[in-house]
Amino acid sequence: MKKIKEQEIGPWCKWCPEKTVRAVWRASGHIGEHACEEHREDLLTYERQVRNTEGHLSEADYQTWMRV
Ligand SMILES: [Zn+2]
Repeated sequence: MKKIKEQEIGPWCKWCPEKTVRAVWRASGHIGEHACEEHREDLLTYERQVRNTEGHLSEADYQTWMRV
């Protein structure tokens, strides 16, 4: 998770009602989610969840899922 630079106009927070609060935190890696200061913990949790999911799924798992 990274802090969005002040001069950058941040995207909207994922957890606040749509288009009300600008995000100040950005999830790291390819996770395209953002959060305001208040929802920092939510973004952290979300980041962790995504990483866990990805960590547990091997290539074979993905293929199994595709067949189902
Ligand atoms: Zn928020």
